[in-house]
Amino acid sequence: MPNLKNITRTCIFCRKKFEQKELNRFVCKDKTVTLFNYHGRSFYFCKPCSLKVLGELTNKEYKRLDHILKKECKGNNDNVAKLKEILTYVR
Ligand SMILES: [Zn+2]
Repeated sequence: MPNLKNITRTCIFCRKKFEQKELNRFVCKDKTVTLFNYHGRSFYFCKPCSLKVLGELTNKEYKRLDHILKKECKGNNDNVAKLKEILTYVR
């Protein structure tokens, strides 16, 4: 059972719940993924998924992530590449 005192957030990719400190928080600005800067509707990405993105995604996973990010950012930018770029320096 999750400890109800801890606020948990759902990872956008694996849909599992994590404590906020286990997650990286992002937001879409001008249809591009960027680190959360206290503006806009944010979404979370967990550390295991971050490592996965930085390591190797299967074709299927890549497509799913691409789809999720396109939906979040309402645009067709290559946000998987952008996310990868950000994760390289925040992890
Ligand atoms: Zn995850």
